[in-house]
Amino acid sequence: MSSQEPIHHLYIHVPYCDGKCYYCAFYSEQGSDPAYGELPGVELELLQASGLKLELETLYFGGGTPVMLREEGLGRLIRELESRVPLSRVYEWSVEVTPQLMSVTLASALRGYGVNRISMGVQCFDDQVLAAMGRRHSVADTLAALGAIKSAGFENVGIDLIAGLPGVDEDGWRESLLRAVALDVTHISVYALMVDEGSVLADMVRRGVTLPNDEEQLCQLAVAEEILTAAGYGRYEISNYARPGYECRHNLAYWHGNDYVGLGPAAASRIGRQRRNNMASVAAYGAALGRGVLPPVEEETVTVDDDLTERFVFKLRLAEGCNIGEFLRKYPQAGHLAKRWGERLKRLRGSGVVMEGEDGGWRLTRRGCEVADTVCGEMYV
Ligand code: SF4
Repeated sequence: MSSQEPIHHLYIHVPYCDGKCYYCAFYSEQGSDPAYGELPGVELELLQASGLKLELETLYFGGGTPVMLREEGLGRLIRELESRVPLSRVYEWSVEVTPQLMSVTLASALRGYGVNRISMGVQCFDDQVLAAMGRRHSVADTLAALGAIKSAGFENVGIDLIAGLPGVDEDGWRESLLRAVALDVTHISVYALMVDEGSVLADMVRRGVTLPNDEEQLCQLAVAEEILTAAGYGRYEISNYARPGYECRHNLAYWHGNDYVGLGPAAASRIGRQRRNNMASVAAYGAALGRGVLPPVEEETVTVDDDLTERFVFKLRLAEGCNIGEFLRKYPQAGHLAKRWGERLKRLRGSGVVMEGEDGGWRLTRRGCEVADTVCGEMYV
């Protein structure tokens, strides 16, 4: 993987969890192996040998559950990384955590390594619903974890919530949002529950478990916007709210169309027109790196038009929207596509899903956020 220009954004995937959430169809392995901490650094070294250049500004450890590696495995991972790429210019370093594994010791270790942003999977504030979704934490764990994170000195803390969980009505959802706001975190992500094939939830639904219908789910997303914006969180992306200045810079880089590199099994990379996905197998990943070769990967070079359209629609997800003129200044080769996008957006404006600001920027309306995939799909055809 070679890059003409240095890449500024690095994601590291840790594929371990302490169980399986029922709605999850992501690749993850049960248990943990601290020796995994050695591997992403080896992958990085091989990529650098094949021409990859990095000048890191954001770093994101996701999963899976990175803190399954505990202090020892994370320490190894970071040492292996630091020995191959400078981290001194990294201005945002996020680590995903889960409440039941957090402690003051672990939070302090993360802070000591230089991590400055925590993202915690909270999902809701109802112990029964959490247990019914296979989560391994309670509301008390969430509160204790947040206390540990804050006492370790973290100021930038985000939590994730899920709208449309079975057994959560509008009142219960309002209660969850108000409790989230009361935590005084800097960032709140709100995802709509998806029933992904291969998840336990998909089987539960086949066996008759009922979920909030589409209308109820959309209502919960609207309630989230109402409560979170009233509490001072700006909706800067379809699923993401932040206090001013606390938007996730790493994810913003993706949506702004910047290139990124992912290390670890199932990690994805975008470099120019190249899209790479490491195979979702820690065994295959470790075996390849043990032989001194890059892990198996699915690789594709997308067309110029698809590459530019992807970068355009990613920006459309943001509240700041996408200004076609500015996009063309950055990507002058997109001239032939801009006419098409402009025509499509004007047509979609008639359906109330996009609007054009006085600055010439196109944005999704609230209705557009609800059907964002369809709106974005329109830009491709
Ligand atoms: S949702 Fe996250 S914590 Fe739950 S099983 Fe999937 S990767 Fe692990």
